[in-house]
Amino acid sequence: MVVGAGIAGIACARALTDAGLAPTVYDRGRRLGGRMAVRTAGARPIDLGASYFTAHDPLFVEVTQDWVRRGLARPWTDTFHLATPEQGLQGTTTGPVRYAAAGGLRSLVEELATGVEVTYPRDVAEVDVGPIVDGEPASAVVLAMPDPQALDLLSEHLVAERAVLADTVWEPVLALVAGWSERAWPQLDGVFVNESPVLTFVADEGSRRGDGAAILVAHADPVYSAGHLDEPDEAAPAILAELELVLGIETPPDWVQVKRWGVAHPAVGREEPFHLGEAMVGLAGDGWHGRPRVEAAYLSGRALGHELVIRLR
Ligand SMILES: Cc1cc2nc3c(=O)[nH]c(=O)nc-3n(C[C@H](O)[C@H](O)[C@H](O)COP(=O)(O)OP(=O)(O)OC[C@H]3O[C@@H](n4cnc5c(N)ncnc54)[C@H](O)[C@@H]3O)c2cc1C
Repeated sequence: MVVGAGIAGIACARALTDAGLAPTVYDRGRRLGGRMAVRTAGARPIDLGASYFTAHDPLFVEVTQDWVRRGLARPWTDTFHLATPEQGLQGTTTGPVRYAAAGGLRSLVEELATGVEVTYPRDVAEVDVGPIVDGEPASAVVLAMPDPQALDLLSEHLVAERAVLADTVWEPVLALVAGWSERAWPQLDGVFVNESPVLTFVADEGSRRGDGAAILVAHADPVYSAGHLDEPDEAAPAILAELELVLGIETPPDWVQVKRWGVAHPAVGREEPFHLGEAMVGLAGDGWHGRPRVEAAYLSGRALGHELVIRLR
């Protein structure tokens, strides 16, 4: 039984399904994908969680190439601008290729879930020794989600698993999405914002999707976000003002929305790929397998799935 249908949970369920096992997958969301979340404006997807993904490990490079071949993902850019609130845009920095998805990043998780039975929305309340999920016995349980969410689910009897999850620090992010009737900023893909107490990153959604839409997604600083988690809408004017300052935008947007991510990233990722102890309660997600990101979550879920195939047989 897999709890969590983000990319880690689905990669795990995919590995189990491909080995001929039939996992049950539960997620409390109204859609799959977790933090690879998408909001639709009309028919147009906007990535509200992860902005893009990168691929380094040969296993994930292969998956990515398959998505690209099938037109589901595309190389977006390897170059982002740099900016500060004082000086505005200040040149560019080049790094690995960042990939985007035509249908929004969530569509990749949905595609990976083809042939996997997922029940949602289903909010799981407790995992106990057995393992038992809300009174239902399972051969094994996987919690594929941020540590604080997994910790909430574990009964006090699962001492080893609780100990593994205790004391990790996860940071929040407020994501502001704003739309204009026409573009009012220079040509760019994304911006790393430095020296700002409010903003860390801005994605040009029109560039990411390739349709030129005048939409920006701005991610707020974790400390700033933590101070505004209870009233995220009240943070919108300050985030917007910083965004306008950094990009030199003089026209107000037609619409603005703020999405709250209470647990967006672990402050530090673990090197181990996953946890699976004698209780047969597995832990996976982007808190595992190195630097926390989409790729780590995929590899963690997949590795735990393969380990479960061996143990269950
Ligand atoms: C704002 C933001 C920006 C990011 N930017 C990037 C980026 O640019 N590049 C990158 O690589 N990564 C980025 N990330 C990180 C990336 O989104 C994650 O690493 C990845 O999506 C994690 O996947 P996961 O499957 O581990 O967890 P999640 O996607 O969080 O999936 C966990 C799932 O568990 C479900 N769940 C939780 N509790 C329960 C319960 N009790 N019952 C049932 N279901 C439950 C949730 O609904 C969710 O669907 C970003 C994340 C955020 C929030």
